Amino acid sequence: METHLADWIKGTPTGAEAESILRTCVHCGFCNATCPTYQLLGDELDGPRGRIYQIKRMLEGEAPSRSTQQHLDRCLTCRNCETTCPSGVEYGRLVDIGRAAVDERVRRPLRERLQRAVLRGALTRRWIFDPLTRLGRTLRPLMPATLRSKLPPLRAAGAWPSRTQARKVLLLNGCVQPALIPAIDAATARVLDAVGVEAIVESRSGCCGAIDFHLSAQVQAQEHARRNIDAWWLHIVEGGIEAIVINASGCGAMVKDYAHLLHDDPAYAEKAQRVVALTRDLAEYLPTLLQPLIASKPIVLPDNLRRVAFHPPCTLQHALKIRGTVEALLTAFGAELVPVQEAHLCCGSAGTYSILQSELSVRLRERKLDNLQRERPAMILSANIGCLSQLEGAAAVPVRHWIEWIDTVLHDSQTRHQSV
Ligand code: SF4
Ligand code: SF4
Repeated sequence: METHLADWIKGTPTGAEAESILRTCVHCGFCNATCPTYQLLGDELDGPRGRIYQIKRMLEGEAPSRSTQQHLDRCLTCRNCETTCPSGVEYGRLVDIGRAAVDERVRRPLRERLQRAVLRGALTRRWIFDPLTRLGRTLRPLMPATLRSKLPPLRAAGAWPSRTQARKVLLLNGCVQPALIPAIDAATARVLDAVGVEAIVESRSGCCGAIDFHLSAQVQAQEHARRNIDAWWLHIVEGGIEAIVINASGCGAMVKDYAHLLHDDPAYAEKAQRVVALTRDLAEYLPTLLQPLIASKPIVLPDNLRRVAFHPPCTLQHALKIRGTVEALLTAFGAELVPVQEAHLCCGSAGTYSILQSELSVRLRERKLDNLQRERPAMILSANIGCLSQLEGAAAVPVRHWIEWIDTVLHDSQTRHQSV
C-alpha cells in the first residue's frame, strides 16, 4: 500500500516501522475471514483491513476521532489476522503504534480513563491484587454473577518440591496468576522436579508488562521489563540457570518481545536480548525432557482425565506460533483430544478486553465454549491464565492448565504403580 506519512511521524523509528508494515498490505481482505470482531459485527471498520486503513489515514495526517479509537479498542490483539495474511503483515505491531497515536490525540471520557487506570494499577501489582482476590473469594456468594464468573474458585496448589536440582530454570513470578490459580506454578514446579529441573521464582520479578503495553502505557511496560531483567540478571550471569520458563503464553509472548521493547535503551538493550534468548514457553521447554517418562510409563488414563478439549490461546498459536506442541504432548501422555471447530478463534479474554469490552467478550466466550464442549470432553485444557479464568467462568466441565493435567497424570500413574 502506497504510504505518505505526516511530518509528525516521518523519519522517526516508529514511523519507519509503521511505514514498512503498511507497505506490505495489499488490501486483499483475506484477514477479515478469520477476524473474530469482523465475524461478530460484520463491519469493515471492525476487521483488520479496515483498522489498517484507519491507522494509515491517521499516520498520514488525518485527525483520528472517537470512532477510530473505538474501532481499535474493539480489536482483541489476537493476531489471528497475522496467521491468515498471505503477505506477512505484522498487524500486532501496527495496532500498538496506532493505539498509542490515537490515545495521544483523542481524550477518552473520564469513566474510561478511570477504569483503565484502576485496571493498570490493580492487576499489575500483587500487593493490591492478592488481597483483593482474597476479599473477593470471601464475598463470592454475594457477588453479582458477572463478577463472580471472573474469579475462579480457589483450588489447592499442593506441595512445592523441596529437592534442589543441578539443573535450574527461572519461573516468572507474574501478576494475577499466582492469586487466581496458584495451582499452575506449583504443578509446573512438580513436573519440572520430576524431570530433574529446579524451578526458581525470583520474588522481585513480577508482571511481564503486557497489561500496560496493550493499554497504550508503553513507558510503564518498559519499566516492568527493566524490573524483571534486574531481578533475573544475577541468576543469569552467576546462577547457572538454563532458561526462563513461562507457563502463561500471553506473558511468554511479551517477554520474548523485550528486545524490541528496549532496543533503544543503551543500558538494557543487550540484557534484553540475552533474556529473550533464554525465554521458553513451558510447551517449548518440556517435551524433550518428558520423553523418558512417556517412554517408561505406558499410561492408561481414567475416563475423567482421558477425553479432553484443548483451547490453544491466541498468544500460543499466533504470537509464539507453537500450535500443535501441547496437543502432541497430551496425546503422548494418553489423552484423547476431541475435535474442536474454530480452534483459531479467540475466547474473548484478551487481557483486559473481557472487562473493557464485556459484551463482545461474552459472545466470544459462548461461541468458544459451544465449540469446546460439543463433543462432551471430560475437561477443557488451555495454556494461558486469561483464557483459563475466562472459560472457567461459564464452562460445564472442569477447566485446567495443561501442566496441571500432566501433573495429575504423573501423580496418578505413580500412585497406581505403588499400589500394584
Ligand atoms: S493484512 Fe494481509 S490479508 Fe489483510 S488486507 Fe492486508 S495483505 Fe490482505
Ligand atoms: S488482532 Fe484479532 S481482532 Fe484484531 S484485527 Fe486481527 S484478527 Fe481481528
